[in-house]
Amino acid sequence: MIPWEDHRDRLLAAAHPLPPLAVTLAAARGLVLAEDVVTRWPVPLFDNSAMDGYAVRREDAGVGARLTVVADVPAGSAEDPRLGPGEAARIMTGAATPTDADVVVPLEDTVAGPAGPGGVPAWIELTRAPAPGAHVRRRGEDLAAGAVSLHAGTALGPWQLAAAASAGYDVLCVHRRPRVAVISTGSELIDPSGTPGRGQIPESNSVLLAAALDEAGMELVSVDRVRDDEPERLAALVDAAEADAVILTGGASVGAYDVVKETLAPRGVRFDKVGIQPGKPQGFGVRTDGAPIFALPGNPVAVAACFEVFVRPALLRLAGRAEVFRREEHRRATVPWRCPPGRAQVLPVMLDGLDGVAPATAGGSASHLVASLAVAEALAIVPAATERIEEGDEVLVMVLS
Ligand code: AMP
Ligand code: MG
Repeated sequence: MIPWEDHRDRLLAAAHPLPPLAVTLAAARGLVLAEDVVTRWPVPLFDNSAMDGYAVRREDAGVGARLTVVADVPAGSAEDPRLGPGEAARIMTGAATPTDADVVVPLEDTVAGPAGPGGVPAWIELTRAPAPGAHVRRRGEDLAAGAVSLHAGTALGPWQLAAAASAGYDVLCVHRRPRVAVISTGSELIDPSGTPGRGQIPESNSVLLAAALDEAGMELVSVDRVRDDEPERLAALVDAAEADAVILTGGASVGAYDVVKETLAPRGVRFDKVGIQPGKPQGFGVRTDGAPIFALPGNPVAVAACFEVFVRPALLRLAGRAEVFRREEHRRATVPWRCPPGRAQVLPVMLDGLDGVAPATAGGSASHLVASLAVAEALAIVPAATERIEEGDEVLVMVLS
């Protein structure tokens, strides 16, 4: 039996980021940056007003002071009006503050005199004195010119794309989205819409994997179902999948009809007993083109757990992500539970309040308890040496959202 950490390390070591390509911002969402984004200019680009109000010299801006409004600076204006003593410029949010002004007094801290041309008042009186530098956003205070705005390995969501645009880019260098093929094996499997005959069950692993792959930002290229008596078809599907990774479920153990092991072991996929429950029998190898092949057990809970613990991090590495692991937390068990001797336990759990955790079903971590998945919010990871969790024990939890 090999420690599960060693198995994960082996998978990660074999997963290399896919080649980079250039895409527009609109096409980049969910992809991962292949290069640092270095801002083309300081952000903000120029000193500008954070409020609608009046740009003034602070030395003139005592309470009750009456200032003459000599200019009007809307957003987008290239004007830099001179301000003498006792003078103010009306200014709108985002407009460049006049070089002669050092503060902005918000509209609501002024009383305006009669409106002149364009609605600009002839004068204002201040009802409150501004603090030094008030309401002026300084050039470069967010980011200096030449600074790294986004680091290689960052996944691009809405906020990151907006940051790239403000740094001056509409095309980014990203890693190609990994294409993944899914193959479920088992002669007992039928479509979920079918009526199961004796010995048959609805196929659910590919449903789980398709959704989990989508959530992880992967492209699902094919889903196939293979019977346990179709080794040639299985081999052909694995060889021909136009994919950067292949995930198989079922048939990875030592049963008489374990078609995946029989077919793929001779093709260089190594089958191990991994020190984890669920998920002990599984295989991993690399196709001649470098695509990882993950051979997971068939039990649905094992597939869910092994996807999270092993497959997802490796796929995120293919995608170019710097951070490939889920957020982890330490919580306290609110009930006791048993753990398998000699193997780490990956247990679907529910989070209870601020720091509690409990198994998602009373039945424990048996790998066929697929119903527990529907209410699980996280996976508890209990070390191999722990044989029992007592109420109040600290438990490491991998949060799935
Ligand atoms: P295996 O690893 O092939 O021995 O399968 C282990 C258990 O998981 C058996 O009870 C199978 O019926 C079940 N199983 C295997 N593949 C699937 C699947 N794709 N969907 C639902 N259950 C499955
Ligand atoms: Mg099977």
